Amino acid sequence: MSLPQEQALNDVDGRYLRQAIALADKARERGNRPFGALIVAANGRVLAEASNANGESGDCTAHAELSAIRLASPLHCRDALATATLYSSAEPCVMCAGAIFWSAIGRVVYGIDAERLRVFRGERLDQKDAELSCRDVFERSSHPIECIGPSLIAEASQSHQGGWKS
Ligand SMILES: [Zn+2]
Repeated sequence: MSLPQEQALNDVDGRYLRQAIALADKARERGNRPFGALIVAANGRVLAEASNANGESGDCTAHAELSAIRLASPLHCRDALATATLYSSAEPCVMCAGAIFWSAIGRVVYGIDAERLRVFRGERLDQKDAELSCRDVFERSSHPIECIGPSLIAEASQSHQGGWKS
C-alpha cells in the first residue's frame, strides 16, 4: 500500500499551515493529542484558530477544526467563509469534514494525512477501519471544496513523535 504523496505549497499556504502545526504543539503541551487548525480569509486575515481540546475538556468533539469553525461561523457570513481557507495540522476527520461542508469554507490545506497518522496511533498501515478520507466527503459536496494535502509532512509529523504513547 502506498502512502499519499506530499503536495507542495506556496509561501502563503506554507506559513499558515506552520501556524496550524504550532497550534498542534500547543494542544500537546496542554495534555491533548497534537492537532491545530486556523481559518484564514481571502485577504489574509485570521478568522479563527483552535487547538484540539479533547484531553483537557473530555469533549470528544473538541477537534481543532470543529472548534475553529464554531468560532468563525457565527461571526462571518457564508460568502466570506466560501473564500476562506481552513488550515489543519492533520487531515480532517469525517466529523470535521462534515463541519467544513456546513460552514461553506471552500478550501482546505492539511499537514499529515490520516494514513501516516495511523502509524503514530500504533495501528497497522494495512488495517482498514471505518475512516473515510475528507476528500470522500468533499467530493459529495454540493459546492466545490478544494483540498490540498498532505503537505509539510515532516514538520506536521514532528508534533506526533512520541505523542501517542499514553
Ligand atoms: Zn476532526
